[in-house]
This record gives sequence, structure tokens and C-alpha cells, in this order.
Amino acid sequence: MKLDRIIRKARTISERYCVTDGGKFDLGRIDPGDTGGLKAEDKPRAREALQSGVQALAALQDMLYAQDRWAVLLIFQAMDAAGKDSAIKHVMSGVNPQGCQVTSFKVPSAEELDHDYLWRCQKGLPERGRIGIFNRSYYEEVLVVRVHPELLERQKLPAGLVGRKIWEHRYEDIRNFERYLSRNGTLIRKFFLHVSKQEQKRRFLERLEKPEKNWKFSAADVKERDYWDDYMEAYEDMVRQTAAGHAPWYVVPADNKWFTRIVVSAVVIEALGSLDLKYPEAAKEKIAELVAARRALMAQK
Ligand code: AMP
Ligand code: MG
Repeated sequence: MKLDRIIRKARTISERYCVTDGGKFDLGRIDPGDTGGLKAEDKPRAREALQSGVQALAALQDMLYAQDRWAVLLIFQAMDAAGKDSAIKHVMSGVNPQGCQVTSFKVPSAEELDHDYLWRCQKGLPERGRIGIFNRSYYEEVLVVRVHPELLERQKLPAGLVGRKIWEHRYEDIRNFERYLSRNGTLIRKFFLHVSKQEQKRRFLERLEKPEKNWKFSAADVKERDYWDDYMEAYEDMVRQTAAGHAPWYVVPADNKWFTRIVVSAVVIEALGSLDLKYPEAAKEKIAELVAARRALMAQK
């Protein structure tokens, strides 16, 4: 399939899940089980489409790297077991590792807590020409920290700065930070993989039952299910407050992994496709240099 056609198709798919103006965003209207009209019997076709998506992405990334102007930042947020890791693994499987970096953000370390919360994220920002993936991000600061405000105490903030408006301030700072990045040539795309509470339970049980998945299981994750509704409110507010044309949220149905991957892949292709990427053209002097070098090489034994 031609690259142009794949990009057009990707645009159609990604538009459905895109939020650029969070004002009235209502999470309740998004069905985690949605498969965009595709059925289980379409799965093999979906897998094929993903494969051509992976190839298209590799071609686009090669140009991104060669052009060396834009950086691309992909942010993934989700409840546990929503499929962040596997979406990243599958969608990025064809890209050149040299042009791509993944940073996972865990519970902040003592050193990280000694800095402002954007500090550790800034260190992971992609250079021009590269794709940077954030597996979790500074958005944890308005998700897990909002659901468990006692975590703020460990952040060592001066007392006067922790008031009622702290979340509002964090949204504002995040909006400004993303505006700043985009004005400096970082293209931002944000994914909220939206899984249902029921499907999460099924995946946790699978982690318990399959030895090769045991390592992923954590009893603390099960405890977090008690706060499900609080998390959903925090996610909804996050999208409302931080969706923007230059930094859209994609709320991706995540009860069916094969479908999640299709949407994530479409969004990344659409994003790169929107950049009008081109291989740099050699300047006249450069071409003369290439011709001379060829002549010199040919003259050698
Ligand atoms: P996992 O991604 O499953 O390895 O888990 C990482 C854990 O780190 C999750 O439970 C996150 O909620 C937690 N985490 C990430 N960032 C923060 C943060 N800024 N403050 C507190 N917990 C965090
Ligand atoms: Mg986990």
C-alpha cells in the first residue's frame, strides 16, 4: 500500500478518538469495548493492517531522523494492565532503535523528589529527529497524586504552596510546558488507553494464572481498584484541562488489545504524516563533492 494512502486511512481512524478541546469531554461516553465497527473475525485483517502500519512508520521515522528538525513525544497513560507496554512494543516494532527512546516513570526516587516534578521528564525528552515515548509521565502528578494526595507530603513542597488550587496550578503548568515544547518543534501526542474495570480484573487474573505473567502482578495494583471511580474522575479532568490542538489526547478503547494497537499505530502515523517530512536535498556544492569523490574512487585500483 502506498504511504499516502496509509496516512489518509490513519487520519480517518485517529480522528475518531481525538480530543483537542477538552471543554465538554465526557469519559462516560467512551466505551472501552469499542472496536470501531470491526468484529472478532476481522482480527486477521487488522493484524495485516498493523503490519503495513509498522512498515509505514519505519519509512516515516527514517525521514524524521534524516530531516532532523522535529522531535516527536508520545505520552502513554492508563490504568494498570490497560496494555501500554504491549501497545508500545507492537506499534514501534519496526522503527530503528537509534531514532527512538522509551522512558518509564515509576514512583519518584529520593533524587527526583528533591526536584520539581518536570525535572525527571525533561531529561527524557526526545532530541530533534527522534521519537520519545513516555510510559507514564508528569500526568501522574494529576492522577495517582490527586487520588492519593498524601503523596504530596513526600514531595517536600514548601507548605504555603500546597493549597486548594494545587491541581489547577499543575494543569496550567502542564499546558504551558506543552505549549512551550510545541513552539520549539516537539510534536506531542497523548494516549489514554481506556480499559474497563471488568477487563482489568480479567487481565489481573491472567497474571496470576500464567507463570510467564506472574512477574507483572502486584497486590498493590488490586488495592488500587478500590479507587477506580476517583481515577476515572481524575482522567476525565486531565483530558478536559489539558487537551489542545497542539497536544491532543487520544482516548483509546482498550478492552481489545488488537484494536488498541490499530488506533495507536494510526495516531502515530497520522502525526508523522502531518509533518511533511522529506529527506534533505543535497546542495549544489555537495553534489559536486559527491561527483568528485566518485571519480576519485573509480580512479583507484
Ligand atoms: P508500573 O508502571 O506498573 O511499573 O508502575 C509504576 C508505578 O509508579 C505506578 O503505580 C504509578 O502510579 C507510580 N508512579 C508513577 N509516577 C508517580 C508519581 N509521580 N508519584 C507517585 N507514584 C507514581
Ligand atoms: Mg503495574
